[in-house]
Amino acid sequence: MTATPIDIVAWFVYVLASVMFVMGLHYMNSPKTARKGNFISAAGMVLAVAMAFVKLFVTGGYNWIAVGLLIAGIAVGAIAGVVSAKKVKMTDMPQLVSVFNTVGGGAAALVALNDILASDHTPNLVVLITAGLGVMIGSVTFTGSLIAAGKLQGIGFVKKMRLPGKSVWNVLFIVLMLASFVLLCVFPEQRLLWSILTTVFALCYGLVFVIPIGGADMPVVISVLNACTGTAVAMSGLAIDNVALIVAGALVGAAGVTLSVLMSQAMNRPLMSVLAGGFGGSDASTGAADGPEGTMKETTADDVAVQLVYADKVIFVPGFGLAQAQAQRELADLGELLKEHGVEVEYAIHPVAGRMPGHMNVLLAEANVPYDELVDLDDVNPQFPSANVSLVVGANDVTNPAARKPGTPVSGMPILDVDKSQNVVVMKRGRGRGYAGIENELYFEDNTQMLFGDAKAGLQAVIAAVKELLD
Ligand code: NDP
Repeated sequence: MTATPIDIVAWFVYVLASVMFVMGLHYMNSPKTARKGNFISAAGMVLAVAMAFVKLFVTGGYNWIAVGLLIAGIAVGAIAGVVSAKKVKMTDMPQLVSVFNTVGGGAAALVALNDILASDHTPNLVVLITAGLGVMIGSVTFTGSLIAAGKLQGIGFVKKMRLPGKSVWNVLFIVLMLASFVLLCVFPEQRLLWSILTTVFALCYGLVFVIPIGGADMPVVISVLNACTGTAVAMSGLAIDNVALIVAGALVGAAGVTLSVLMSQAMNRPLMSVLAGGFGGSDASTGAADGPEGTMKETTADDVAVQLVYADKVIFVPGFGLAQAQAQRELADLGELLKEHGVEVEYAIHPVAGRMPGHMNVLLAEANVPYDELVDLDDVNPQFPSANVSLVVGANDVTNPAARKPGTPVSGMPILDVDKSQNVVVMKRGRGRGYAGIENELYFEDNTQMLFGDAKAGLQAVIAAVKELLD
């Protein structure tokens, strides 16, 4: 088939859009240029969508009902995007990413399904393989991300879902899904039957893949599903021969795979176990959910101020509660006060502290904390024994010594060795558990004191007490 002029123009515009996606990603390397990167990528997407419309009109391959539906879809998507970007809190971003993965995976599966079923002619093997993969991966992502979003949002019945015999279900649906896919390629004349069965089994696999996973393992799952969304989109792009979709999907897929590998390494989780459908004992209902015995010792802001002012070295340990309280500026102010007084201050950054990778880095950068004061897990852990005080602000799971024992939902996850500090002060509102849903042994240690209350108000009280001491 020879290319028409509009095909050639469209090809160049899609390549230009793809270059803009790559440039956008490059600018997102640094918080300073990230806004620009977002803008360039969004402009590339607008260009690609506009070109698709122009092509539709020039080739006459449209009817007004379809155009009306497309415009309505774009309007609904744009409004939902703007509203969610403005309204959704940063602490709720992982749920939003999961919802986007649901939509992206579902859309990619529908595009691929349409490519298999809409044509009067039997599709060739290349189309069947690429579109079939798009259907499979997109459908797994659709249901998997839906469950992940529900778990992250803390929706009761989703969080409580259990799957006895999870490995059997996983293997069963993988085998059924792959068998239907192979039969789709071998018997294309029966494509309606085999593509529907592939879709149904892939949707089921998405459910049984994510239902057993919970607690501290969710970050890796979100990242894997993100990689799946990109791969499904790239497969759909290959099936309908759209270079912008191929490049956009490949970029998301590659970024997702890289992040999944880095996250699983940081969490000490074998990535293949995630793909096989969860780790052992990842629910709070299993393992040592009852927690340690003993009492917590309460302290006051005045007491904490004295400990901090007389310390040589203080390590701040921020976690999800800091983000929830939006207390990053107060923590940075306290750090500045102590440094002016000659105290060495560092911020210990756990890779999954908060609710998204890099969450603490972004928060603290917002409060202008110098990057060289943010110290990664591997570098900061040897320093805890020499810290006179570790001030834990709204961090829980990432400091839980239960991770060093087998059989708990956080087992095997590397933690910040806060318990090895000379003194520990934990700021949190009350006796609430962390994301993994288990008690934290750290709070019951002899060298730990609890300063209960909202992190922002608590830090303001500590700052006032420090200022009073230093006057
Ligand atoms: P956790 O979620 O384990 O604990 C946060 C603690 O903050 C809670 O115990 C809570 O206790 C306290 N808190 C909540 N609000 C406030 C507030 N306003 N003021 C003071 N304290 C508050 O946080 P971590 O950062 O330690 O661990 C992150 C967890 O999230 C890990 O299990 C990780 O696997 C998971 N996760 C991480 C993702 C990522 O990519 N980073 C994504 C998805 C999940 P209380 O209610 O008593 O105040």
